[in-house]
Amino acid sequence: MEFATEELTRQVGQTARDFANQYIKPYVMEWDESQHFPHEVFAGLGRLGLMGVVVPEEYGGSGLSYIEYVTVIQEIAKVCGGIGLSLAAHNSLCTGHILAFGNETQRKKFLPRLASGEAIGAWGLTEANTGSDAGNMQCTAVKDGKDWVLNGTKNWITHGISGQIAVVVARTGEPRTRNNATAFIVERGTPGFSGGKKENKLGMRASETAEMIFDQCRISDENRLGEVGDGFRQALAVLDGGRISIAALSIGIAKGAMEAAIQYSKERHQFDQPISNFQGISFKLADMATEIAAAELLTFQAADLKNRHLPMTRQAAMAKYYASEVAVRTSNDAVQIFGGYGYTKDFPVEKFYRDSKLCTIGEGTSEIQKIVIAREVLKG
Ligand SMILES: Cc1cc2nc3c(=O)[nH]c(=O)nc-3n(C[C@H](O)[C@H](O)[C@H](O)COP(=O)(O)OP(=O)(O)OC[C@H]3O[C@@H](n4cnc5c(N)ncnc54)[C@H](O)[C@@H]3O)c2cc1C
Repeated sequence: MEFATEELTRQVGQTARDFANQYIKPYVMEWDESQHFPHEVFAGLGRLGLMGVVVPEEYGGSGLSYIEYVTVIQEIAKVCGGIGLSLAAHNSLCTGHILAFGNETQRKKFLPRLASGEAIGAWGLTEANTGSDAGNMQCTAVKDGKDWVLNGTKNWITHGISGQIAVVVARTGEPRTRNNATAFIVERGTPGFSGGKKENKLGMRASETAEMIFDQCRISDENRLGEVGDGFRQALAVLDGGRISIAALSIGIAKGAMEAAIQYSKERHQFDQPISNFQGISFKLADMATEIAAAELLTFQAADLKNRHLPMTRQAAMAKYYASEVAVRTSNDAVQIFGGYGYTKDFPVEKFYRDSKLCTIGEGTSEIQKIVIAREVLKG
């Protein structure tokens, strides 16, 4: 879809596209098969300034807007959803949390390492028994003198093993009470902090998803993000921004699947003509193009509100909900258009299909997005 895009946005998008084609595309299936998390790609993205897209230049970032950010995520996801997911989690969650809620000392200490790609970020909210119901977390942080002692396990964490800087939300109050969680920064190498089981996933296999384990992990109060008890509110605000990037990730996957399907439908002949001549095929392409365009409008609307520091909880949830469902529908139809070939690993659409499903689950499922949207709508 064409917007009256600023020249800067176009250039940043081109940079991401060129990088993805040169350094990601040739290895996509190899990483997918072996579930390899390619650290070197993130070092390269860091050199281009794409590991701290919206981080201000004074903290070592690129100082760009959310419009450029969603453009970058789309371009990377068109080539590999897994790398797109990791880039989005790094930028929006860990880095985004420290940028939004860190004090000046914390920003100066951690953001340059994250924005340069020297350190990969992880963000831990989810636990084995508390996904959608994250407020019911069991991982605790207990004050001991000037320090905090963390105990518990976070599950499904993007970069749970490789993240050198992690933001962790732990319970500091009684279960099921208000304001009972606090966010902390934990550095890899801190005694009592380790990575656990790496998940063997359906899709997004180049993105590392693993446990983060805290066992009598002692951290300084200097690593506390904001006020004691403010962690869950912070996490929800961070997720608002993160959901915009998952919408962009979904659009990238959908566009990748649609472009492959368009090309194939023109090349594949049955009954002495290209299959694109059949209305049953071309109408699928029409639906894909229309839904992707609508998803983009929702996503850019949310990104624009975020840039202007305006409330965007409803718009971010709508963009994430709609775009992720579009990604699943589009990649499903793309496999259908490829027929039997779409069911093999010789063509890219089966991977788009597998990758797309994460988008309706991560950073709040579609059902949770509908709860958020309904709550906003009912507010009036
Ligand atoms: C690849 C991957 C990467 C991830 N990365 C991270 C990360 O970096 N950091 C992090 O903290 N987490 C991460 N997650 C966790 C992710 O955010 C959770 O998986 C997600 O929030 C859903 O939680 P759950 O898996 O426990 O599902 P559940 O909460 O158990 O949900 C199961 C089903 O019940 C439905 N459901 C639950 N509650 C309701 C309700 N009230 N009304 C209607 N339906 C409901 C859900 O929609 C879903 O369909 C990641 C997950 C994956 C798969």
